[in-house]
Amino acid sequence: MLNFLEQKILDEAVVKPGDILKVDHFLNHQVDVAIIRKIALELKRRFDGVKVDRVVTIEASGISIAIMVADVFQVPMVFAKKAETSNSTDAKYVSRAFSYTHRQVTDLFISRPYIHAGEKVLIVDDFLADGQAAYALIDMVHQAGAEVAGVGVAIEKGYQGGGQKLRADGYHLESVAIIDAMDCEHQTIVLHNQDETAS
Ligand code: 5GP
Repeated sequence: MLNFLEQKILDEAVVKPGDILKVDHFLNHQVDVAIIRKIALELKRRFDGVKVDRVVTIEASGISIAIMVADVFQVPMVFAKKAETSNSTDAKYVSRAFSYTHRQVTDLFISRPYIHAGEKVLIVDDFLADGQAAYALIDMVHQAGAEVAGVGVAIEKGYQGGGQKLRADGYHLESVAIIDAMDCEHQTIVLHNQDETAS
C-alpha cells in the first residue's frame, strides 16, 4: 500500500526533462504545511529511538522539512548556506556539491558555532538523487567532530545511486517515498512500494 506521499506523487507530480520531479505546489515553491508535518512525523517514527541533537539541511528547499523535523525532535535546526550568500566573517565549515537542479558546483558553508563536536546530527533534505548534497553535509558534520545520526529525505530517486551509496557506507537512510523509475515523455512514475504505473 502506498503512503500519503507516494500517493500524492502518483496523483500530482509532474516529470520534467532532465530527470526532475516537479512538486512545486506542495514542496519546492508553495509549501503545504500539513504535508510537510506528515513527512516530519513519518521521519520521527522511522528514527524512533535514535538520539538526535540537531537537524542539518541545505538552503533553500530543505528548510521547510528540516524546520518541521527539528520541531518534532525538539532540537535546533541549521541550514548550510550557498557561498554566494556569505556575508559573515565567522569561521566556517566548507564543502561543495554539484547541484543536481542547477547543474553547477555550489560551495556550501555552515558557520562553526552552529554544529558542535560530539553532537548527533540528523541530515534532512527534500530530494535525494546522486547524493551530492547529503555527502557535502556529512562532510561538514565530520569537520565539526560531530556524528551523523542518520539521513532523512522526503523523496529518494532510488535509481540515481545516492541512496545505494549512503546505505553501502553504513548510514541510516530513511526516505518517505522512493521512486524506482520515471519517464518524462509518457509521464510515468514507478514507486518502490508498488509496481504500478500512473500519470
Ligand atoms: P543530489 O545532491 O542527491 O544529487 O540531489 C539532491 C538535491 O537536488 C536536493 O537538494 C534537491 O533540491 C535537488 N533535486 C534532485 N533531484 C530533484 C528532483 O527530481 N526534483 C526537485 N525538485 N529537486 C531535485
